[in-house]
Amino acid sequence: MVITRERDASRIVSSIARWIAGLKPAFGSKFYFEKYGVSKCIKSKLSSFKGRKFCPFCNKEFKRISSFIAHLIRVHTKDIENLVIKCNNEICREKRVSSRRTISITLKSAIKKAL
Ligand SMILES: [Zn+2]
Repeated sequence: MVITRERDASRIVSSIARWIAGLKPAFGSKFYFEKYGVSKCIKSKLSSFKGRKFCPFCNKEFKRISSFIAHLIRVHTKDIENLVIKCNNEICREKRVSSRRTISITLKSAIKKAL
């Protein structure tokens, strides 16, 4: 899977942020990123941080879920993107599909969707 649409990319980042924060999905009965094959890989890498309000990327702790999610999106969109790309690469390695394409994100809309 290669994420090509900006809308999807920002939804994936915000739904991953919500998932890490232990919140229910914002996009229907399934978490948005669970639509994609990478979700299993992402979950396996982040599951120990789920619901702890403890940033997996910089070890910062948060009291409020909303500020935790905003932090994840504001500070770590690139880290989340890289994780998605890394998982893509793991899945696509045999197919030799290039997943290095940049996922462009509208930060403002991602934060808005996640909160
Ligand atoms: Zn952080």
